[in-house]
Amino acid sequence: MRRYYIKTYGCQMNVADSARLKAVLESAGYQEIRESGFGDSDIRGLGEADLILVNTCVVRQNAEDRAAWFIQSLKGQKKQNPNLKIGLCGCMVPEPERNLKKQFPHVDFFIPPNSPDVLKQYLAQNTKSESRNPKQIRNSNLEIVSDLGFRASNFVTIMTGCDNYCSYCVVPYVRGRETSRPMDEILEEIKASRDQGGKEITLLGQNVNSYKPGFANLLIAIQQLVISHSSLVINFMTSHPKDMSDEIIATVAELPYVAKDFHLPLQSGDDEILKKMNRGYTIEYFLGRVAKIRSLMPEARISTDLMVGFPGETEVQFENSIKLLKTVSFTQVNMFAYSPRPQTAAAKMPGQLPEEVKQERLQKLIETNRLLLASS
Ligand code: SF4
Repeated sequence: MRRYYIKTYGCQMNVADSARLKAVLESAGYQEIRESGFGDSDIRGLGEADLILVNTCVVRQNAEDRAAWFIQSLKGQKKQNPNLKIGLCGCMVPEPERNLKKQFPHVDFFIPPNSPDVLKQYLAQNTKSESRNPKQIRNSNLEIVSDLGFRASNFVTIMTGCDNYCSYCVVPYVRGRETSRPMDEILEEIKASRDQGGKEITLLGQNVNSYKPGFANLLIAIQQLVISHSSLVINFMTSHPKDMSDEIIATVAELPYVAKDFHLPLQSGDDEILKKMNRGYTIEYFLGRVAKIRSLMPEARISTDLMVGFPGETEVQFENSIKLLKTVSFTQVNMFAYSPRPQTAAAKMPGQLPEEVKQERLQKLIETNRLLLASS
């Protein structure tokens, strides 16, 4: 039995991609070496692996550095076991300015985001499948659900890519233009998961609200599938505040099987910074969305992302984010310091702040949030 290990960095889209890669490997007869015990700095035990995949994230410098460090650290593994195959996956792969082959000569193959078929082709060409004919290795989402069988929580990707081009974000450059999956394919996948006893499904996309032909329509169509399965819960992420329409809010409120959880990334509490970020909404609009959600669903949980230290952010503009944090009782806040990303508009903007200023502001934001949670 051949064994594989997969290391995943980044967001839920990467987690979902890794699940598809795992399914391809397992249908080819590989067995997973479990994550437990393998931190970034602990690669003991990987000597048993025949194949290692590293699913990378480039959304922030820190995530990118950690993935690069881990990939470099696999050089020693390869020396010990020259038959080991290493695959580099995810958002690092499509970046045009990189020369990954030069940077990581010990890596055997590369898989862009959302491309399990590339792994399938690699296995078919380079390895002898143990349990199945390589031509039969499955890679469609539906087949993968069937292959994996019951999982308590299942991610269903409803769209890939993003057209929003927020000025700080590298996603449109590495994950491509926004593409919605056909609704019947999504419904089939949910049906397969439901029939295998799935309890929770998360609809995934960079911006699920802009699903075409309509996110509310999709939720209503899903209702027909889950109406007689009262224990099945549908979550969704991530929502863009600008696309959180009255229709979507009302539909979530009306459908009992949809979790009343909204992840609405605010990013900044200042209108001028939001404009420079190209977010497409104002603070007034954002607060209006929060009020609308809470008027229809007083029990709703609203979480957010906040970024400090965007180029040119003044002390007053940073304080506006602190004010917003105090105004809206978010159930959870993911907080980050701005990190310039290649190709993005913000990386070229004047007024890049020193790292110590960004870190100081981040610590202040974290401390404010800690005090707010403690007093709630
Ligand atoms: S909406 Fe903005 S932040 Fe989110 S993935 Fe698209 S470009 Fe990036």
